[in-house]
Amino acid sequence: MTTPTLELQRCMACSQLIWPPMPACANCLGTSFEAVASKGEGTLWTYTIAHRTLPAHQDDAPFAVGIVALDDEPDRIRVLGRIVDCPLDTLRIGMRLRVELPTSSEDPIEFHSV
Ligand SMILES: [Zn+2]
Repeated sequence: MTTPTLELQRCMACSQLIWPPMPACANCLGTSFEAVASKGEGTLWTYTIAHRTLPAHQDDAPFAVGIVALDDEPDRIRVLGRIVDCPLDTLRIGMRLRVELPTSSEDPIEFHSV
């Protein structure tokens, strides 16, 4: 099984990268896009640790949810997901993480240490 690649949109009119996918470019309102494969890595921009959550996820708690600034355009492209395989006491803003998309749309985007 292969992990799907994180695909960004690039506006054909102004070249702006877009995530999450949108029906129109927020910069120029263009509606034509090409798919661009993300490099799939970035830095941890912020995070929180969930100790209490919905009943369906309570067995996983505590776990970390974070926002990663993608290397593709770190000031603009940020992705929300769950930080996995990193001990919670080692999490630091700015640490390098790799984005892994779930194979099921029911599961969250995951961030793994690089
Ligand atoms: Zn545009």
